[in-house]
Amino acid sequence: MERTVHAPARRAAALCLCLLLLAGCAGPGAAQSRPAETELFAMDTYMHLRAWGPEAEAALAELSAMLQRLDGQLSVTDPGSEIWAVNHADGAPTALSGDAFTLLSRTLDFCAGTRGALDVTLYPVSRAWGFTTGDYRVPDPEELARLLPLVDCSAVTLDADARTVTLPPGAELDLGAAAKGYAGALAAELLARRGVRAAMLDLGSSTICLTGRKPDGSDWRIAVQDPEDPAAYAGVIACGPGSICTSGGYERYFIAEDGAVCWHILDPSTGRPAKAGLLSVTVLCPDALTGDLLSTALFVMGPERAADWWRAHGGFECILIDENRNILVTEGAADRFTPMGAYTHAELTVIGREE
Ligand code: ADP
Ligand code: MG
Repeated sequence: MERTVHAPARRAAALCLCLLLLAGCAGPGAAQSRPAETELFAMDTYMHLRAWGPEAEAALAELSAMLQRLDGQLSVTDPGSEIWAVNHADGAPTALSGDAFTLLSRTLDFCAGTRGALDVTLYPVSRAWGFTTGDYRVPDPEELARLLPLVDCSAVTLDADARTVTLPPGAELDLGAAAKGYAGALAAELLARRGVRAAMLDLGSSTICLTGRKPDGSDWRIAVQDPEDPAAYAGVIACGPGSICTSGGYERYFIAEDGAVCWHILDPSTGRPAKAGLLSVTVLCPDALTGDLLSTALFVMGPERAADWWRAHGGFECILIDENRNILVTEGAADRFTPMGAYTHAELTVIGREE
């Protein structure tokens, strides 16, 4: 009798346990469960999104749709995009959506502060090098001299009331240094609104956005690419919530006939690949748009100006790898960065508040 009473009870208990385990994604133990995952191709790169918790699945679906929408709005090569319309307006004002306007206005403000390191009107020069199509070539000096006057972000006019942008005839925008960062910033807001407490968004490995901490409560561990070996890492950073943006010459480049390495990050003052002594810049910043803008800008500035910028502005930490394979780390990131691979014994210089 006893058995017949207890057997169903035990079965019920076992069933409850199974249901609890299966419901791991939706119950209080969600943070420990496997993440919801999505992959997509947007902004010219593969993105991998991971989120934990009961809201994760729905949030990632919403996030994917948002990323595809932003891609359609901000692409320089898609004839249906807002940026395409701006670049083909031939001097006429062009209306923008709220997102494109906000991104452009924040990017212009940032460019103005970098004293020429970052310029959102670089597109005619990038195209001359073939970076927009992959049809690489070295433009001759006359061609660059003809195109350089078009690179001038101070000539872009925004009308906040009408939400329009006007470019001088011939000028063209390129939001390549900012678009993924803006997407990351919007993504972080979306996840917060949705109540997602842990997420890791890889928006093309050069822009990584982290929400909360790892589900087990520990720091996220994000690898920094070895700039000279695509199959290896130069180190790993332990980090909490925020963004990690990397700019490196290795991301897109070609070798010219004379053997020079020509990469896609250009110095707007010369129209040539930025060779200021750095191979890569990784920025840790709460806001992904600022982080993305900064990583490109600091790469163009080079190590001394980058360190000065950090001292003057703060609000972020960075890891710089220079062309002599030395690593420079701002003091707030020094304890969190562990060199590895070919960089295990690299000289590590800590950039302090005082020069
Ligand atoms: P990734 O696109 O790999 O994330 P970055 O964030 O560094 O790398 O952005 C590089 C892109 O930014 C280039 O492909 C180009 O579109 C644009 N760009 C390159 N140099 C500059 C510059 N000096 N100012 C503004 N935009 C730039
Ligand atoms: Mg960038």
